[in-house]
Amino acid sequence: MAKKSDKIVIVGAGPVGCYTGRLLKHFGYTPLILEEHGEVGRPVSCAGIVGKDVFTDMMLPISKKSILNTIDGAKVSYNGFAFLLKRPGVAHIIDRALFDSELSQGLKIEFHTKLEGIEKSGPGYRLKTTNGEYYADYVIGADGPNSRIRKSLRFDSNMKLYKGLQYRVKLEIADRDRVEVSYVKPFSLFTWLIPEGNGVARIGTICDKPSLELERFMKERNLKGEIIERNAGPIPIGTCQLVRGNATLVGDAACQIKPITSGGIYYGMKSAELMVSALKDGKLQDYERLWNEEFGKEIRLCLLARYIMENMSEEALSKVFTYVRDNASLIERIGDFENHSTVFWSLIANPRTYPTIGNVLFDVLKKPRILLRLLRR
Ligand SMILES: Cc1cc2nc3c(=O)[nH]c(=O)nc-3n(C[C@H](O)[C@H](O)[C@H](O)COP(=O)(O)OP(=O)(O)OC[C@H]3O[C@@H](n4cnc5c(N)ncnc54)[C@H](O)[C@@H]3O)c2cc1C
Repeated sequence: MAKKSDKIVIVGAGPVGCYTGRLLKHFGYTPLILEEHGEVGRPVSCAGIVGKDVFTDMMLPISKKSILNTIDGAKVSYNGFAFLLKRPGVAHIIDRALFDSELSQGLKIEFHTKLEGIEKSGPGYRLKTTNGEYYADYVIGADGPNSRIRKSLRFDSNMKLYKGLQYRVKLEIADRDRVEVSYVKPFSLFTWLIPEGNGVARIGTICDKPSLELERFMKERNLKGEIIERNAGPIPIGTCQLVRGNATLVGDAACQIKPITSGGIYYGMKSAELMVSALKDGKLQDYERLWNEEFGKEIRLCLLARYIMENMSEEALSKVFTYVRDNASLIERIGDFENHSTVFWSLIANPRTYPTIGNVLFDVLKKPRILLRLLRR
């Protein structure tokens, strides 16, 4: 068991770092959080859409003060056709800065303290920061997609950083309880339109040239309004080692993000629960196994689905989207905001899907690169 007197340092006061701090405090530890910025929650790099489970499924209660709007479904479009997926109350739109700030209440945070280097020192680590040196028996890297801990301590990883950009625009959207997701190339080039429900819309994209794509989308859709905030950041998609000695990673630092939708808040917070449970039992190494049991299969399957979709022909993609459109009620019934593989497995088990699966397989067989990747699994 990790001793209550052990010095535990968390690097990063994002939602996952703060939730990790709360969990440790709950179990009687006194963690210290180091944060490079001067406040929690800013700058915002997030579209702020979270499944309802973020507020109902966590070990500790989560403040609901940040909820701005509740969403009943999505309009999905691809290549000129669109369909609706209805799921009442499926997700919330949050004020992300307030969400993080609420999580940080009561925690000990050193602001303006940027980690610049870390080295082994006795049983723990010496952390060099812009605010002096710190010693930690255990160090937790919750320092986001460009994690300094991950790089300095050479955690193994296999990931790609995608670019995200969003504008908050003064604009009233007619459908206040529905988001829109418009795919150009699933899942590496898409755009979203999210109503905050208060006369502000969030218009964002994930792609290689986000400014150009947002300009194109807004022009095409004739979306006009004053831009009141820009939110940008990288999105790490892939896999990563989680424990090295007494150092561990959690959240975006560990690539704990959904490969299909790029949402990371739920997975990051649930992963923090697994990590803290292993740490308090004195078996930090178990975190890797616990995480793989809970999320490993899901992430690997979704990464594969993403890879196939990214490499499929437009014709085959159209067939997949046509199938989803024609079977929207089935997806509405089995869909899960956080676990996308449940949809894949249900579809695979459904004979109505076989012609579409046949089309996908036929497309894949024509591309040895995808086939090789499938065989390597
Ligand atoms: C455009 C965009 C839209 C997104 N939309 C959604 C969404 O709608 N829903 C969703 O669930 N997820 C979304 N995500 C992903 C989500 O934002 C992340 O998964 C989430 O923020 C991860 O939390 P975290 O605490 O792990 O990391 P972060 O939120 O990145 O927090 C890391 C913290 O560490 C600090 N830090 C970094 N380096 C250092 C250092 N060297 N020293 C000290 N401090 C440091 C940072 O300042 C930051 O406070 C989106 C991401 C982007 C970029």
